[in-house]
Amino acid sequence: MQYLEGRRYVVQGIFLLVGLVFAARLFFMQVLDGTYKLAADKNTLQRLVQVPFRGSVYDRNNQLLVTNTPVYDLLVVPREVRALDSARFCQLLQMPLEELRASLRAAKKYSRTKPSPLVQNLSPAEHAAIQDNLIDFPGFRVQARMARAYRTPNLAHALGYVGSITPRLLELPKYAHYVPGENVGIAGLESYYEPTLMGRRGVQYKMVNVRGVEKGAFRGGEFDTLSVAGQDLHLSIDAELQAYGEELLAGRRGSIVAIDPKTGEILAFVSAPHYEPQMLTGKGMGNRYMDLLRNPDRPLFDRPLMATYPPGSVFKLVNELVALQLGVVTPNTGFECNQKLVHCTHQHEYPANVSLAIKNSCNPYFYQVMRAAVVRGQSPNKFEDARLGLAQWQKMVKSFGLGEKLGVDMGQEKRGFIPSVEFYDKLRGYHHWNFRTVYSLAIGQGEIGITGLQMANVLATIANRGYYYTPHFVKGIGPSGPLPKYRERHYTAVDTTLFKYIIPGMQEVVDGRGGTGSLASLREFGISVAGKTGTVQNPHGFDHATFAAFAPANDPKIAIAVFIENSGFGGTSAAPAAGLMIEKYLRGKVAPSHKRMEDWVKYGNLTAHLH
Ligand SMILES: [Zn+2]
Repeated sequence: MQYLEGRRYVVQGIFLLVGLVFAARLFFMQVLDGTYKLAADKNTLQRLVQVPFRGSVYDRNNQLLVTNTPVYDLLVVPREVRALDSARFCQLLQMPLEELRASLRAAKKYSRTKPSPLVQNLSPAEHAAIQDNLIDFPGFRVQARMARAYRTPNLAHALGYVGSITPRLLELPKYAHYVPGENVGIAGLESYYEPTLMGRRGVQYKMVNVRGVEKGAFRGGEFDTLSVAGQDLHLSIDAELQAYGEELLAGRRGSIVAIDPKTGEILAFVSAPHYEPQMLTGKGMGNRYMDLLRNPDRPLFDRPLMATYPPGSVFKLVNELVALQLGVVTPNTGFECNQKLVHCTHQHEYPANVSLAIKNSCNPYFYQVMRAAVVRGQSPNKFEDARLGLAQWQKMVKSFGLGEKLGVDMGQEKRGFIPSVEFYDKLRGYHHWNFRTVYSLAIGQGEIGITGLQMANVLATIANRGYYYTPHFVKGIGPSGPLPKYRERHYTAVDTTLFKYIIPGMQEVVDGRGGTGSLASLREFGISVAGKTGTVQNPHGFDHATFAAFAPANDPKIAIAVFIENSGFGGTSAAPAAGLMIEKYLRGKVAPSHKRMEDWVKYGNLTAHLH
């Protein structure tokens, strides 16, 4: 281009549209985006840009979720506007005069010679209604382009959306080759996989004489490039499971993340409340976006990736594994339920081993487990001893993918927080804190934050007995597999031989007598669920409920984490939601006998027992 735009050619800056052209094998939109006068003769050189079709998006069962549909933008080139009959023009477009004036001012401000979109996303019918009259209005023309069309009302948070590139984005180097009015992925998968989905533009240079007759390719097509269609994305999401999850949490705030532990593929990604992806496409998208933004329930907020909560009792599983690895407890270690240390959840049998401690979620037991892990007599100074112990604890906990971004294929992921020695040094002062300062970490409370995605990944790690694949949404890009980084196993700092010791206790949580997660039980179908309930302290209102699980216990195919905000104890709301999701995924349906539980999750007064 440098060569073509050199002194031999005068760039006239005329941008025209020639329309939609469908090639036999490759669909693309062809845009004439420049005409250059050749100094040597009377011919001009036209630069035709072929914008390829954006890739479609499918679920794991090849169900089409997102595709393309033609829409039309009305463009204006301010310099070419002549003697505009504003009244007639506004009538044609059914546009208030003030709005037209404001739009024209904005267009002039952007460029007098380049086209700016005046009205976007006209439907084919709206386009037909104005098409014939436009000839009376020089400086205005219509450009066809492809917009996203959604075949699903679900998964909006993961899909993200596509919009016309904004002047602000156009200034960024990575979008330097985009033209105004063109589509770009703005959030979610549409943004993360933008280069893949958009493909590559083709450019052709054609010689045209003064009468507009084509005189062939410039220099035999030496500078031409072919367009390459955008690639399709094949998601690991199960569209049916996704729809079911969104239905379960429709009236709640919270999240559900389900992962296939054997691959790290995300099966369901529910952020409640949700919105329909169709809302962020087509005419009026801007207004709908603002409505969503102002909604006090924050439907745009991507909870599984961006909301961080103290994990509550589910975190006891991680602490137990760390202590087993350090050799400070064994699976047969018993600790008194000593309520002088920390209050316990309820009256229960003596926790003579780890299984009984997990089943009863005994707070004093796990207080003593963590104390054994942190206070190890590594220094005669008790403050220094706590510093050394906590540093090792933090490093081992982080190996579970906590406190850092996991690296999911989406931009907005939060890292969560696993407090460090430096954090407490700063908070309390050097050698001014000890185990009593940090003990709430033993039960997953206090200065600790993890995301729903991270919690599901911890369960996938336990399901795999010690390793995980980074969770991801895309299992196939065109004919290829996932990105290579999603095929790597990540081992934790805990030996794979130790994970088996916590699993019987997790099965007892669900299927044992008086287990706290019994509403997640699928024993009637011969499926053993291993799980853990949790209650997340919320200083702003009712506690949040959580439940995390995997199933079948001996050959896990799904790991899941459910958070339901302001609904109190995890066993009453989050556990049945998780159980229903597991049932739906493993059996393909939910038994009629579970209809009442479904209604309870959807409509029940989950906080009634807290009043
Ligand atoms: Zn207890």
